[in-house]
Amino acid sequence: MNSYVQDVIEQIAAANPGEPEFLQAVTEAYGCLGPVLERHPEYRDGKLLQRMAEPERVIMFRVPWVDDAGEVQINRGIRVQMNSAIGPYKGGLRFHPTVRLGLLKFLAFEQVFKNALTTLPMGGGKGGSDFDPKGKSDAEVRRFCQSFMTGLYRHIGQFTDVPAGDIGVGSREIGYLFGQYKRITNEFSGVLTGKGYDWGGSLIRPEATGYGAVYFADEMLATRGDSIAGKTCLVSGSGNVAQYTVEKLIDEGALPVTLSDSSGFIHDPAGIDREKLEWVKELKNVRRGRIREYAERFPGVTYAPAEAGEHNPLWEVPADCAFPSATQNEISATDAKSLLGNEVTAVVEGANMPTTPEGVELFLTAGILYAPGKAANAGGVAVSGLEMAQDSERMHWARRVVDEQLRSIMKSVHEQVSTAAEEYGRAGNYVAGANIAGFCRVAEAMLAEGVE
Ligand code: NDP
Repeated sequence: MNSYVQDVIEQIAAANPGEPEFLQAVTEAYGCLGPVLERHPEYRDGKLLQRMAEPERVIMFRVPWVDDAGEVQINRGIRVQMNSAIGPYKGGLRFHPTVRLGLLKFLAFEQVFKNALTTLPMGGGKGGSDFDPKGKSDAEVRRFCQSFMTGLYRHIGQFTDVPAGDIGVGSREIGYLFGQYKRITNEFSGVLTGKGYDWGGSLIRPEATGYGAVYFADEMLATRGDSIAGKTCLVSGSGNVAQYTVEKLIDEGALPVTLSDSSGFIHDPAGIDREKLEWVKELKNVRRGRIREYAERFPGVTYAPAEAGEHNPLWEVPADCAFPSATQNEISATDAKSLLGNEVTAVVEGANMPTTPEGVELFLTAGILYAPGKAANAGGVAVSGLEMAQDSERMHWARRVVDEQLRSIMKSVHEQVSTAAEEYGRAGNYVAGANIAGFCRVAEAMLAEGVE
């Protein structure tokens, strides 16, 4: 790594102790930028690496609410407004017990690059709470969401910061958050994306991240004269991204064979078909059950509980392609070796930073098609951008129109990433390409806007 970049990363590490995921994301991104800084000394003079690692603003607030037993509960709310050089802050809200400032800074940092790759005018942000919706009643989730929005509403707005969903924040939570924003501000605006169709949402937004990841896989495989049809695919997670990844894989004639949650994973060698997928959607989105029940419902399926440590047996299942779609650092070096040992052709990240740095290195060295989340899962925020456009127009676009735009945006993300990698002598390296292309777009805007 270039010594200037190394020095900057050390400064960032010293200034942000106890934030390992944030440092991991910064190290991965900046580690690719040495040749860019040599070609563009103005980025170095403008201290763009340092500026981009410092959030423009962080809001942290108390979220008090009352549970069904009448007891007062307190959670912490956070919104990281990372970078607004190319548009309003944009990025999801995560409700999960592991949420801390450093975790959200990593997600917000990734979001800045990702949003730039979509070519749409969106800056980057991320937020959330250590609240765990799992096991809570609807009424508890509603009271929590209302209190969360009461703390957040004054800091967001359709031209300022437009949050969306992420882990633990689906259409139910977006509904409660939107209702509270509207009640407090007396304004019906596109302040959140991921809204229901009848109240300002976009068709294809729920599907967008999963569909987009499969479209990105299509583009990558096409560079080797191959396609996703007929490929056996591993998918982790069983939430929004995983469900619609499976749906698009089925549409395209692939064979998805796994799903998981934090308790364990199922392997269905016959493949998850449309009927089984509808059952999973009902299980996860309506009944809020566990994936273990899939093995009890369908014959020939095995279930393995999650194991502690550096090893997830899901990645030992032989397959052609892998779509990690659960959470960060879910593919360790051991898991990467299992995948490579089974001659995986492509790893396409639906989740954010699901592969550890050691795992990434192994994929890059092996020369497989490896798409980092900031490129492969950009479809979700891209359709959020299209939802913002529809809200501004007071119009709904047809399903076909949104899907075509999503496909064309994923194609354009692939082109930009490939071109940037080639331009800097790293052809085929999607990690380098995504970081370089995303960084340059934001860096140019920041320079044009002065030192702010
Ligand atoms: P959901 O909450 O809908 O689903 C998350 C899934 O991952 C669940 O099956 C959950 O299991 C599992 N999971 C979560 N945390 C862990 C953990 N620590 N260990 C093991 N499994 C875990 O979230 P999404 O599908 O929306 O998000 C999944 C990933 O995709 C995240 O990395 C998110 O940042 C990323 N992403 C999401 C986008 C979107 O549009 N929703 C856009 C771009 C990226 P359990 O129920 O047991 O917790």
